[in-house]
Amino acid sequence: MRSDPLAYVAAELEALKQQGLYRPLRVLEDEQRPTTTFDHRQVVNLSSNNYLGLTTHPRLRDRAIEAVRRLGVGSGSVRTIAGTMDIHLELERRLAAFKQTEAVVVFQSGFTANAGTVSSILTKDDIVVSDELNHASIIDGARLSRATIKVFPHKDVDAARQVLRGLPAGRRTLLITDGVFSMDGDLAPLPDLCALAEEFGCVMMVDDAHASGVFGRNGRGTIDHFQVHGRVDVQVGTLSKAIGALGGYVAGSRALIEFLHHRARPFLFSTSHPPAVAAACIAAIDVLMEEPDLIDRLWSNTRFFKAGLEQLGFNTGASESPITPVIVGDGAVAMRLSDRLFAAGVFAQGIAFPTVGRDKARVRTIVTATHTRAELEFALGAFATVGRELGIIRE
Ligand SMILES: *Cc1c(COP(=O)(O)O)cnc(C)c1O
Repeated sequence: MRSDPLAYVAAELEALKQQGLYRPLRVLEDEQRPTTTFDHRQVVNLSSNNYLGLTTHPRLRDRAIEAVRRLGVGSGSVRTIAGTMDIHLELERRLAAFKQTEAVVVFQSGFTANAGTVSSILTKDDIVVSDELNHASIIDGARLSRATIKVFPHKDVDAARQVLRGLPAGRRTLLITDGVFSMDGDLAPLPDLCALAEEFGCVMMVDDAHASGVFGRNGRGTIDHFQVHGRVDVQVGTLSKAIGALGGYVAGSRALIEFLHHRARPFLFSTSHPPAVAAACIAAIDVLMEEPDLIDRLWSNTRFFKAGLEQLGFNTGASESPITPVIVGDGAVAMRLSDRLFAAGVFAQGIAFPTVGRDKARVRTIVTATHTRAELEFALGAFATVGRELGIIRE
């Protein structure tokens, strides 16, 4: 018998278990709802990105079912061969009108939208200037492009300016940031970053995955929230979070979008969405336009829950969005807090290195529009009890 050439994989897993960082997958046995069943336990769900409850919204469900009946379950090809259906184009037109840009291209996910775009608009001779907390898909896209990567400290516009000043003249430069940061829930200083991009002639790109459906008029995102229309060259949004289905998109000029049709590798080499996904996303835009009270409820729940955690004495960092981290520092403590909360009927995922810094481990909470006050009060009660038991907050 040959020895197992993958033995090191098992050894690394064992090390994670020793450190208390091993994370089994929680299994959802019902719909993605504010109270639902994971691993045979009914819990208040504070871990999903289903900000507006659209994963189970009747209008999205009906349109997806209708699309399955009318158009089948798959697109059968990549977009550039036989996999562009008119429903894909309808979604892109609707998104472009929603985002007030010339054009939009939809990708299979937010991840492929970022990675495919950054890697195709840059070459090895170019430079990307990136916030240190930008999403992994941006980092991977930058690596794939083989551009020079310069990272600036989180939200530090002056530091970004220093980086830009130090660059050789005449190099094409991309300045890139998340709109809402996914682990801390804070916002990028977009007006200042746009001014910086203008001063140094950079391409400006914003990943608005957690802002789509949450910030701006009818959920148009941080570009709308900060009123920096026309100053961001490349806007990325996701259809997987508040929109409730799956996908990512790039909004920008027609030239940018047509360039991506020819160069973005996930567009060229990976099959397009099933028609039901596109249909659900179109219905989601209708909901954003016609049911804006959902976004109001999201924000009122956010204010209530954040204030509750802060009154209990938890460290909630610098959050300005429905994402509220409960920062505890040590990775094993974060996992223990998450486990105890789960036993008490609240699902809030523990997050540790490498997703966040080694001393910044946390439990991350996300409220949605569809949580009731009773559910949020129940969750705060569980945080109070478990937080005291673990010595994270005082009696
Ligand atoms: C979730 C997320 C993505 C990826 O989006 P998916 O549609 O889930 O692939 C990209 N960027 C940020 C900032 C995210 O939070």
